Amino acid sequence: MVDCIFCKIIKGDIPSTKVYEDDEFYSFLDISPVNKGHALVIPKHHCRNLLDFPKAEETDLMEFIKKVAKAVMKATDADGFNLGMNNEDAAGQVVFHAHFHIIPRFNDDNLGSWPSKKCSEEELEKVRDEIVKYL
Ligand code: AMP
Ligand code: ZN
Repeated sequence: MVDCIFCKIIKGDIPSTKVYEDDEFYSFLDISPVNKGHALVIPKHHCRNLLDFPKAEETDLMEFIKKVAKAVMKATDADGFNLGMNNEDAAGQVVFHAHFHIIPRFNDDNLGSWPSKKCSEEELEKVRDEIVKYL
């Protein structure tokens, strides 16, 4: 896609700190890392986010992510990692070319996890019943 920054990175029109690539996917370091070693994994052909991600590439994607995540863990001596994906504006997606964040985590990085809300059993069941209608 012409105006997509990540398509430009894949084409080599914009520089990136490449980690690894194969025929389908490309991995490079996030320019503003949450922790050192924060890597992104993107499909080589443009799609917007998870909902239009091609089914044919899903299995290979997980293998690719695991390969990069293991390398990031070893290289940074991390205690864990977050695998994240922001889908749409409301969820924090800024670049609209599907991408997965691999963020190394350390026991003492003080980043915590995302906030949680109280929810009654009745509310849980109500929203579950709404979701189930669409499955
Ligand atoms: P998201 O908020 O999930 O859309 O994340 C987009 C990510 O892309 C952010 O973490 C940015 O720091 C990262 N990013 C944007 N431009 C570049 C770039 N040219 N090279 C590497 N990472 C980038
Ligand atoms: Zn793109």
